[in-house]
Amino acid sequence: MIKRQAVKLIFVTGGVVSSLGKGILVSSLGLLLKCRGLRVTIQKFDPYINVDAGTMSPYQHGEVFVTDDGAETDLDLGHYERYLDVSTSQMNNVTTGRIYNSVIQKERRGDYLGATVQVVPHITDEIKARMLDLAHTGEYDVVMIEIGGTVGDIESLPFMEAMRQIIIERGRKNAINIHLTLLPYIKSAGEMKTKPTQYSVKTMLSIGIQPDILACRTERRMTKDLKKKISLFCNVEVDSVIESRDAETIYEVPLLLSKERLDEIVLEKLFLHAKDPYLNHWVDIVDRIKNPAEGKVKIGICGKYTEYQDAYKSIIEAFVHAGAGNKVKVELEWINAEHVERDGAEKYLKSLHGLLVAPGFGDRGVEGKIMAAEYARTKNVPFFGICLGMQVAVIEFARNVCDIKNADSTEFRPKTKAPVVHFLPGQREKTEKGGTMRLGAYPCRLKPGSLAHKIYGSEFIHERHRHRYEINNSFVEDLELNGMLFSGKSPDNHLMEIVEIPNHRFFIGCQFHPEYRSRVTTPHPLFQAFVKAARNFRNENQVHIPAEQAVLKQENK
Ligand code: GLN
Repeated sequence: MIKRQAVKLIFVTGGVVSSLGKGILVSSLGLLLKCRGLRVTIQKFDPYINVDAGTMSPYQHGEVFVTDDGAETDLDLGHYERYLDVSTSQMNNVTTGRIYNSVIQKERRGDYLGATVQVVPHITDEIKARMLDLAHTGEYDVVMIEIGGTVGDIESLPFMEAMRQIIIERGRKNAINIHLTLLPYIKSAGEMKTKPTQYSVKTMLSIGIQPDILACRTERRMTKDLKKKISLFCNVEVDSVIESRDAETIYEVPLLLSKERLDEIVLEKLFLHAKDPYLNHWVDIVDRIKNPAEGKVKIGICGKYTEYQDAYKSIIEAFVHAGAGNKVKVELEWINAEHVERDGAEKYLKSLHGLLVAPGFGDRGVEGKIMAAEYARTKNVPFFGICLGMQVAVIEFARNVCDIKNADSTEFRPKTKAPVVHFLPGQREKTEKGGTMRLGAYPCRLKPGSLAHKIYGSEFIHERHRHRYEINNSFVEDLELNGMLFSGKSPDNHLMEIVEIPNHRFFIGCQFHPEYRSRVTTPHPLFQAFVKAARNFRNENQVHIPAEQAVLKQENK
């Protein structure tokens, strides 16, 4: 039993360049602390003015991660959930936009009683209040706070100032800063260079923050001498200069950081007492990821952001988890839907063991996705459609099996005569783009005996949503008479959540996003089952055979 101590805060900032993997560092340290029996959560502060990530293009910001309570957040929250195996919420992601929004609302209400409302103290006070929100719930021993952006950015200054004030107010034994920097290796000099790190720490010092721990992202091992040099010039004790080396898989990072004693150093600095860490299960998972006993399976992801894979972050990670769960390495082939549209499906899909049609918005590439779904259906190739991926599978089936020639979604063809997918009823009046989709976790009931029911092993499930459009119920009977089965529905039977084709080897589509709930230690059942189907398909027969049954009409009731 651990004696409860004052809540400790760990701020994590980044220097030199972006994309150093602050999210992975925080998640890994969070995991190490959790494995010592501490209750840990992670919060991310993003310096952009969007109120949330929901209105940003995936090209700008990668995937939008959705929490149970419907927050549209930064993709780092996905890492937090996957490593810590906890669910985050609206409170875990705060943007500059949200801070300003609330300060301006308070100003309009007259809450500031005639004061001139300023960045310091009003914006910084609002940020401090949010930074302490989770600490005040009483649910955590440690709250980790990742500050987005790079030190020196104009945008992140108010966050840095709020952090500085909290550290001084709470004292260094209750709040510390870990600064992540880059040690570039210069080939011609044959050396790792420390100057960027020195400048980055100088920038931190110029705004009043002395890092307590320096984590140095490197390609190579750091020598003791190098650590000493950084220690001396950056004013950080030598034992607190940590190597954060590139890893073969991001899931190995916690193990590498544990070897560097990062968690122990954090405990010492924060005067925290905790038991020794239990990491055996993690070691086992990393081993399974690195050494897949049953070879590789090739899964195609057909989507429109294929050249920018951060847009599909949670899907990629869910495949890593399900691969480890099935003892295989899932090799992803990125299939640009517009190329399928141009060249036909065969060219890109013929050697796959499974096809996933990805979520998405807008009509670009949709016809290619429909062609890809048709290929998988007629060739009996394991198929998995997520959100838009399920919608295109239904449109394809309506067109090519039910003979509803102009079947479409009103998202792409608002005036279509056959709106098999249409605008979510009850949302017609909402025209703003931000936060107006069907968002967050909703219950779903599975039809006993269906594939979905077998996969989940229970009748009621909760899954996270992010969409505006839905399957149009007036087409459901016709689709079912022709061999589709709506095996998951909202408990009131109004919304179609899962579709399958019982005569197919493995054909499943879901209106929700299962990828958001896949965790390292518990792969999502749908991904687990899909990868298993792909592995079996690979083992049985590499040839894509026609699904002669799939087009037969049959009763499924
Ligand atoms: N564009 C579709 C909708 O809004 C699908 C969304 C998605 O794939 N997340 O319903």
